[in-house]
Amino acid sequence: MKIIDYFLKAKDKTFVSFEVLPPLKGGSMNDIFNVLDPLMEFKPPFIDVTYHRQEYIYNKQPTGYYEKIAIRKRPGTVGICAAIMHRYGIDAIPHLICGGFTVEETENALIDLNFLGINNVLALRGDARQFEDRFIPEPNGHKYAVDLVSQIHDMNQGIYQDSNIEKGTPTDFCIGVAGYPEKHFEAPNASIDLHHLKMKIKAGASYIVTQMFFDNNKFFQFQDACTKEGINVPIVPGLKPITSKKQLTSIPRKFYINFPEELVNEIMKADDKFTKEIGIEWCVNQCKELKKKNVPCIHFYTMGDADTTYKILEKI
Ligand code: FAD
Repeated sequence: MKIIDYFLKAKDKTFVSFEVLPPLKGGSMNDIFNVLDPLMEFKPPFIDVTYHRQEYIYNKQPTGYYEKIAIRKRPGTVGICAAIMHRYGIDAIPHLICGGFTVEETENALIDLNFLGINNVLALRGDARQFEDRFIPEPNGHKYAVDLVSQIHDMNQGIYQDSNIEKGTPTDFCIGVAGYPEKHFEAPNASIDLHHLKMKIKAGASYIVTQMFFDNNKFFQFQDACTKEGINVPIVPGLKPITSKKQLTSIPRKFYINFPEELVNEIMKADDKFTKEIGIEWCVNQCKELKKKNVPCIHFYTMGDADTTYKILEKI
């Protein structure tokens, strides 16, 4: 089923959904099932699976020189989606990124998904590679997520990149995109970022999933700003509970978001062994307020931690 149809059918109901990361290469599918099995009790209509592009690593050689090697540390996104659909009978949403893909490779990836019966995707640009100071697309790859959305939308009309195909079979992908209540870090200001978000919707995206936030007011302000900009698609809030003191600095560094003063003060005052408890309580309160405001779905960035997500869901 298309994700947008869940939202349209749900009316005032708030779903929960989860995002999982493929295990590190060498891991097992059980790493994913161990996270998801207990969470199935909460009846998520869909699960997101992230995509991780190839990275460069530098291995020190006996000579003292470093050898540059390209590896994908977390492959398996599409296989994991198929395995989730098979085991739980629910939809799985692969994340598809611009980084590392030419438009032809994107087309082929979409054909694979279509043949597998996966008809939902979250279309993203992806981040810069480690050791690169900005996002660099592949030659003949997409520079922005909006271009990826357009390609998928074209395929939904039977328009393929391969110019030899005159009348291709139309696909039927429901496309989600990312939104940033605290602005994407590269955007010069919030209104320009919002304008780019609107372009993604105009290009064919049906819903938005947000970056994590810890202050619901930021989300509500973002919702209002979207409405003013003429963005009227469902907006799904993404949440991640804080579980350790060191995340007070690592999360803003990685995701460019702010922590509310009250939450930081509470965590700083307490022993680190209580951080998880404080984080769960904070997230529970966020969820309760979001539910009251009738958000269509609350999306949890599980990051492999089923226990914390379970404890939150038990309380809401
Ligand atoms: P875009 O929408 O392309 O925006 C990127 C920047 O460019 C923004 O500052 C925007 O304002 C600007 N911009 C957009 N269009 C234009 C234009 N036409 N001209 C000028 N500027 C423009 N990353 C992964 O690698 N794998 C994942 O699985 C993954 N999952 C994610 C899931 C969610 C819900 C979120 C919020 C993020 C995820 N990311 C993932 C991270 C994401 O790839 C990064 O945040 C990335 O930096 C931006 O992606 P985007 O799709 O928002 O890009």
